[in-house]
Amino acid sequence: MRIAIIGGGLAGLAAGCELSDHGHTVEVFESRPWAGGATYSFIPPEGTGEVDNGQHIFMHCTTAYKKFLERLGTLDLTKQQKLLHIPVFDENGQRSDIQTAYLPAPLHFIPTLISYKHLALKQKIQIAVILLKIKVFNTSHITENQSFHSWLISQGQDDQTIRGFWDFLMRPILNCTTSQASAKQALFVIKKGLLSDKKAMAIGLSTVGLSTLHIHPAKKYIEDRNGKIRTRSKVEKLIVNNGHVEGLKIKDQEVATFDAYICALPPWYVQEILPKPWQTMGPLNLLSAFQPSPIMNIHIWYNEPITNLEFAASLNENLQWIFNQTKISGEESDQEHLVISISAPETLFKLTKKEALQAILPELNKVLPKTKEAEISDYLVIKEPRATFIPSAGLKRPGPITPLNNFFLAGTYTDTEWPATMESAVQSGHNAVVALEKNSKSWISPN
Ligand SMILES: Cc1cc2nc3c(=O)[nH]c(=O)nc-3n(C[C@H](O)[C@H](O)[C@H](O)COP(=O)(O)OP(=O)(O)OC[C@H]3O[C@@H](n4cnc5c(N)ncnc54)[C@H](O)[C@@H]3O)c2cc1C
Repeated sequence: MRIAIIGGGLAGLAAGCELSDHGHTVEVFESRPWAGGATYSFIPPEGTGEVDNGQHIFMHCTTAYKKFLERLGTLDLTKQQKLLHIPVFDENGQRSDIQTAYLPAPLHFIPTLISYKHLALKQKIQIAVILLKIKVFNTSHITENQSFHSWLISQGQDDQTIRGFWDFLMRPILNCTTSQASAKQALFVIKKGLLSDKKAMAIGLSTVGLSTLHIHPAKKYIEDRNGKIRTRSKVEKLIVNNGHVEGLKIKDQEVATFDAYICALPPWYVQEILPKPWQTMGPLNLLSAFQPSPIMNIHIWYNEPITNLEFAASLNENLQWIFNQTKISGEESDQEHLVISISAPETLFKLTKKEALQAILPELNKVLPKTKEAEISDYLVIKEPRATFIPSAGLKRPGPITPLNNFFLAGTYTDTEWPATMESAVQSGHNAVVALEKNSKSWISPN
């Protein structure tokens, strides 16, 4: 079959690679001059090497994403922890580590909970009790409409435990606060990441830029199998006849026709390309409920080495996570490139780039004292206002099947169970391929 993929982010590219493997001819239509969507890298004019639009991490339990890298032959460009280990700094710069043990889950978390200095005994007991409860009891009675915050309160977690532990742990994964997130989504992540296996939450990082890791190789993979990636190709409208998509109207180009179509756009753009009666039909009607959440990354280049840590977390809301790109990439350099990654930033996001840098520096000085004296040679602030969707209470996510018989949905927002992650994007691409191949008999004639 000839198959069009609308959107060249991770979901579209993952679907494209899988379809190419199955012998289909794929064309990916991407509106921007480059593919990658929410995950790409670029080389700034100053020539500081590849810079990611935003720091990305994966976990041992994100198996679809790791399989995707294996397919591309780039998994060895990543480094992965054996067990979860996070150096955590409090607001005063005091360090205490979260480091899971070689014990069966959930016992693997108990030794680190005992030694962790940023929580009082009362909070630790609350956390141990709730983890045990989630592990042992069925939590499927939780209603779709309950927020994670209200569920935590109903389970006896106090304000300090929520702020000092649950908000800190879940914010970078869900990219929103415990009040914004649904209990169902948070519990899925806790079960998968914290409670399924001792290794599940171990962190994986790319040692190269994201485009080198998975965008350029995915493009090559598709092109080597007779496919095309058409950048600067914004899909404006679907041409629909009798519940069947017949073609794509592409900006400043001719109409392109295919046997089937996978739409891998963010949820807020899908309805725009649908003709009127289809925008609200069946699961397509769910799309207007999705709300975006931002992420902000502050890259700072120092003229001297700052720390031996590859990354660290901070309990300070304006700092959150610090990555040492120079150490992670294994580069020999006198400079050090740090990336401060802030999920769902609130006031910080509204500041100018210079103001945002000035706001975080005093906090960074407390965590990494060498930054006080070191000279900053350059900095770059990247704001992604629509980085992810908010997995809010009551949000219903569509599956790949739509009322249009040869048109399927992929994208991190579709019903993969995962929050907006690379795992969800890749899994959604696979789900769309399965649905497309299963349903193709309904529109392909035997001749
Ligand atoms: C700063 C940042 C940090 C993140 N950190 C992490 C992390 O640490 N770990 C993790 O797992 N996930 C992380 N994520 C989330 C993850 O990157 C995304 O969930 C995932 O990449 C989304 O993939 P997607 O293909 O569904 O959507 P997108 O990447 O948004 O792809 C959609 C594509 O469609 C294109 N498009 C839009 N309209 C049109 C049109 N009309 N015609 C043609 N093309 C169009 C867009 O340009 C885009 O390329 C992060 C995201 C950001 C932004």
